Amino acid sequence: MSDEAVSLELLRAPVGTHDLMPGESDRWIALLAMFARHAQLYGYGLIQTPLFEDVRLFKRGVGTETEVVGKEMYEFEDRGGRAMALRPEGTASVVRAFLQARPTPPFRAWYAAPIFRYERPQAGRYRQHHQVGVEVLGISDPDVDVEVLGLAIDYLTGLGLQGFTLRLNSLGDGACRPQYLEALKAYLHDHERELCDVHAEKIDRNPLRILDCKTESCRSVSVSAPSMADALCDDCATHFERVTEGLEAGGISFLLDKRLVRGLDYYTRTCFEVTFDLGDGELTLLAGGRYDGLVEVLGGPPTPGIGFGSGIERVLLACDQQGVFDIPSKSPVVYVVDTTDGRAARDLVAEFRAGGIEAERGYGNRSMKSQFKTADRSGARFAVVIGERELEAGTVTIRDLRGDDEQIVIVRSEALKYLSDRSITAPEGSS
Ligand SMILES: [Zn+2]
Ligand SMILES: [Zn+2]
Repeated sequence: MSDEAVSLELLRAPVGTHDLMPGESDRWIALLAMFARHAQLYGYGLIQTPLFEDVRLFKRGVGTETEVVGKEMYEFEDRGGRAMALRPEGTASVVRAFLQARPTPPFRAWYAAPIFRYERPQAGRYRQHHQVGVEVLGISDPDVDVEVLGLAIDYLTGLGLQGFTLRLNSLGDGACRPQYLEALKAYLHDHERELCDVHAEKIDRNPLRILDCKTESCRSVSVSAPSMADALCDDCATHFERVTEGLEAGGISFLLDKRLVRGLDYYTRTCFEVTFDLGDGELTLLAGGRYDGLVEVLGGPPTPGIGFGSGIERVLLACDQQGVFDIPSKSPVVYVVDTTDGRAARDLVAEFRAGGIEAERGYGNRSMKSQFKTADRSGARFAVVIGERELEAGTVTIRDLRGDDEQIVIVRSEALKYLSDRSITAPEGSS
């Protein structure tokens, strides 16, 4: 490759990634604030774990059989020869941190974190995407499942989203699932020749995955397959009834989706997804469930757990589709135009910012006209002007850029108070 081609490539974000730029990121700030506020209402604290962990954490905690770990994980050896991996999902690290710190349960944590998967890039699918999510450890009470789902739905509706579908299922537990899996395997073997090539081979290893295979052949077989929800033991059935009762009591509508599964043994009971119809396909906005067996799989004491993760890019794609959560870019309140030598602008923006007013200024002694152009483009509400006349008189001219260009001249020391009385103090998108 020529030097020039290499340089051009260096100026592009890696395939499957994107830059979040100022302006666009104002929406992210608002989204994160929204999620944080809901999470706090439900009693969660923020957790931040490393981007990378020992690769064995994910191999054990997520499973080498999964696409996420088996095919899509970013693995690397660090300079000390340790096998590491970039986080391919949110839960394993949180559980690891919980086991390391050993806080007294119940433990409730929320996160906002980049997630790395070597996938084929497409709409709403990135090699580095970002998720918000929660995990609750130490409570098996079905009311917690309802709370976790309540938080998920509050968050999505808080953004203004409508028309999404909450799909719900129960995966049973160690008492009832083994029996069900045998019945499922027997059924699948009876229909072995109708399954897709991949799954015809996997009946004994991972029969549940066939239920969410997207090929026509597997789908038509799975329609009449026995379902876990019909084979729950009494404890699991009681748990599930309490969850659906709680959702109904909270006015949260859901769809019982008997084909909704997770392929790993440590997933138990409640399992859910929120999907959104994009018109030309379905987008999963959020997915989660109970993982009562995970803490033990990772070497901790038996501890029930439940949580969900939700892709920010996907949720914003759904918002775009519906024309909701359209957060305007943040503009400064004040733009200082100084045609003397910039010292007045320097001192005034410092004074305004110290007083809590978002302020920008022109630099480089450009002409009045050019500075006003920039002020207009910045979206500022007011221009505060200092020319020779104002400098001599100890005044400033304040012009309302969004009104009829009305302007007044006031004593410089009163400018801050004048602006404070008139500016919009609450940041947009915080309500
Ligand atoms: Zn299949
Ligand atoms: Zn059970």
